[in-house]
Amino acid sequence: MAIEYRTSPGAPLTNDLVRELRKDFPILDRTVNGNALTYLDTGATSQNPLQVLDAEREYYLGANSAVHRGAHTLAVDATDAFEDARRTVAGFINATETELVWTSNATEALNLLTYSFANASQGIGGHDAARFALGEGDEIVTTEQEHHANIIPWQILAERTGATLRYIPVTDEGLIDYEAAQTIVSDRTRVLTFTHVSNVAGSVTDVEMLVSLARKVGAITVLDACQSVPHMPVDVKKLGVDFAAFSAHKMLAPTGIGALYGRNELLEAMPPFLTGGSMITKVTMNEAQWMPAPIKFEAGTQRVSQAVAWAAAVRYLEHLGMDQVHAWEAHLGQLLAEGIAEIPGIRLIGPAAGQPRAGLAAFHVEGVHPHDVGQLLDEKGIAVRVGHHCAQPLHRALGLTASTRASAYIYNTTEDIERFVDQLSTVRAYFG
Ligand code: PLP
Repeated sequence: MAIEYRTSPGAPLTNDLVRELRKDFPILDRTVNGNALTYLDTGATSQNPLQVLDAEREYYLGANSAVHRGAHTLAVDATDAFEDARRTVAGFINATETELVWTSNATEALNLLTYSFANASQGIGGHDAARFALGEGDEIVTTEQEHHANIIPWQILAERTGATLRYIPVTDEGLIDYEAAQTIVSDRTRVLTFTHVSNVAGSVTDVEMLVSLARKVGAITVLDACQSVPHMPVDVKKLGVDFAAFSAHKMLAPTGIGALYGRNELLEAMPPFLTGGSMITKVTMNEAQWMPAPIKFEAGTQRVSQAVAWAAAVRYLEHLGMDQVHAWEAHLGQLLAEGIAEIPGIRLIGPAAGQPRAGLAAFHVEGVHPHDVGQLLDEKGIAVRVGHHCAQPLHRALGLTASTRASAYIYNTTEDIERFVDQLSTVRAYFG
């Protein structure tokens, strides 16, 4: 069935166009506590359009089968759909199909790296893998701004190998301290890993600057692209990173699938992470030989329908045009920041209003627990995120234990932001 879109390709997003797009997202028509739903929690997970749901359903109705090893027609169709999806998702970030490994989410993509590097540190993978081996005296550098998914795997890798984990601190606003980065990254640095867009501060990292620091000392670079790939054009080749991790569910697609981008030469040299069926060429009683990347990293039955749905989500976003998506969200992000900053007794985290930020804003309401803020907003049908957003070190650096976050996407209008800001302005009086 041909996919139909409601808008013309690359049309600038406006409230009218977004209202049209929202017809693709029936969930947004539901009511919550008697009010129309205002969904401002895409930073946690996004909603799926009908085009994506249909793609998954059609796969199950017409091609569902085990990929890669079947001789029958369904298996060939399923394999074609799966590998087409890989090309589509890889192409979205300007990578090729040999550079994109399916994982269950971004968290698993980051764990894949750390487990593989730990294996290399134990001599698994032989001579080729030795470049990923870490030991005492080596340093892994991350930032205080990270999601726990880009902290804990590295903590455990450091513990396993004797390497040291170091942090680039954040400023009082929760932004990466680039001056400190210059002294922390040294010739001991073997890995430099950082987020592209902070899921709390909403700031966009100066990737070029950090990649150039890493290159000077020959360190591997890892980008947590969870909050960037869904929202702005991302070209991994232009950014020059070695690896990048991202998740489908944050970009109009189902849960259960994510991806690791890796430069092919690096993926080929790395030892596997999970092992078992599908990822081998030969197995004896004592050893196994592995398939080339990316299949070497895809042990067991894969998430075929989710991959197909993810590719449909990518086509949906490409139809909108990522420049247009980015422009609309930058506008919504500014409206959020300005609206929040104007309310007395609320501390906006991250860039000040008027400074560049992604389409999300986290904040702290003086004297009110974020859970109470979230509950009051939910009573009005407004869905936001409360808590530490899996970034406890960042909150600690800001002197907070938790915050509230509103995050927008292509299906939000400026009226959504106004409704949210109006309700937020009543919170302190309510709890006062
Ligand atoms: N990194 C960032 C910046 C995120 O926002 C998230 C999700 O909230 C993750 C990593 C983890 O993503 P997932 O839970 O899909 O693995």
